Amino acid sequence: MAVDTAAYSEQTEIQRDITQMVRQFADEQIIPNAEHFDHEDSFPEPIVEQMKELGLFGVTIPEEYGGMGLDLTTYAMIVEELSRGWISISGVVNTHFIGSYLLMKFGTDEQKDYFLPKMATGEIRAAFSLSEPEVGSDVQGIKATGKKAADGRWELNGQKMWVTNGLGSGVVFVLVKTDPKAEPPYKGMTCFITEKEPWAEENTGDFKGLVVPPKIKKMGYKGVESTELVYDGYMCPAERILGGEEAGVGQGFVQMMDALEVGRVNVAARGVGIAQRALELALRYSQERKAFGKPIAQHQAIQFKLADMATKVEAARLVTRKAARMKDAGERSDLEAGMAKLLASESGKECVEECFRIHGGYGYSKEYEVERLYRDAPLLLIGEGTSEIQRMVIGKKLLQRHKI
Ligand SMILES: Cc1cc2nc3c(=O)[nH]c(=O)nc-3n(C[C@H](O)[C@H](O)[C@H](O)COP(=O)(O)OP(=O)(O)OC[C@H]3O[C@@H](n4cnc5c(N)ncnc54)[C@H](O)[C@@H]3O)c2cc1C
Repeated sequence: MAVDTAAYSEQTEIQRDITQMVRQFADEQIIPNAEHFDHEDSFPEPIVEQMKELGLFGVTIPEEYGGMGLDLTTYAMIVEELSRGWISISGVVNTHFIGSYLLMKFGTDEQKDYFLPKMATGEIRAAFSLSEPEVGSDVQGIKATGKKAADGRWELNGQKMWVTNGLGSGVVFVLVKTDPKAEPPYKGMTCFITEKEPWAEENTGDFKGLVVPPKIKKMGYKGVESTELVYDGYMCPAERILGGEEAGVGQGFVQMMDALEVGRVNVAARGVGIAQRALELALRYSQERKAFGKPIAQHQAIQFKLADMATKVEAARLVTRKAARMKDAGERSDLEAGMAKLLASESGKECVEECFRIHGGYGYSKEYEVERLYRDAPLLLIGEGTSEIQRMVIGKKLLQRHKI
């Protein structure tokens, strides 16, 4: 830790042990190998296999289903450590975590029994799909549809966009319109739990009608795949509607927005992790590099940058943990999750930029880690709702809570 705040971070013994374990894992397994997988844009399979052994796919899944049964706060601490290593690694578990949250909160007993044990071990990974080629922020504008067929199953059609884990996942929680005429539109939206063959570009048998086009080429956030998904006559059994057909039809929007609240804490934790790493790299480089006869860290302008970075890291970490703790305590945390996501993702980008400046020309070289951070950090401004959308959420909730 560049700034040792351990004494003030209010961690339980379990949280301390697990974050230390994940930090060691990041130092020994993620950071030394991230450059290779980033450069090749290949899936970091060996790292993911070790994460399965460490139980990191089941952190929040209850013990009765084979998980660790830990809370969102602990999960956020783990995500921070993973992201300090490489945000793509946290991306592999992020949508998986959201999928397990959806099942735990809204799933039927059969859905939980069927999916959660396999998800806890990482045997199957989950993806979460709202976005479409023409729609991201304005979720109620999606066009994919689900229509009940004569045999009782539901036929899904439509194109989805930017699906993290789109190819390697074994299950996708997908939002479609089951009543395109519903007013307001969110009342006509349903979440389907669509199974698929992991790593198959064209699904066959029970899962036919789901095609995964080649992965999208990205600026950063490499290694973990982002894909489109094409549902073309995919037949989904009625018992795969989240919460069951009777309770689940028309509830998809509400369910998925609920999940986004925890997803935002998760992205906030990633922002803290990448900001922390940028601070560490900047502290090290600025004491090694000399200019005008002394280490650049001795120039006040550089010290001010370090001071601002450290302050942002601390603030972002505190607001992220507060949002997580409120959710764990069963309190409404939509406002706080929005603030955490906004502050931590912007802080992540700002700290990475300052770290880049401190590295001078070497920051532009692929030999230095900050070059990867510079390409990775902007994603956090976009995923799980852009900064503009967070401000809209925060503003709306503020006015609701302080109505005169
Ligand atoms: C690498 C990556 C991975 C992703 N993974 C997933 C995933 O797993 N699942 C998934 O469903 N989605 C995923 N997404 C999609 C992501 O959630 C969307 O990109 C994001 O919600 C923004 O939507 P958009 O790209 O359509 O932008 P748009 O909604 O078109 O927005 C464009 C711009 O307009 C602004 N804007 C929009 N509406 C308003 C408004 N009312 N007021 C002010 N400004 C506004 C936005 O802030 C933004 O600046 C991923 C995206 C990326 C890049």
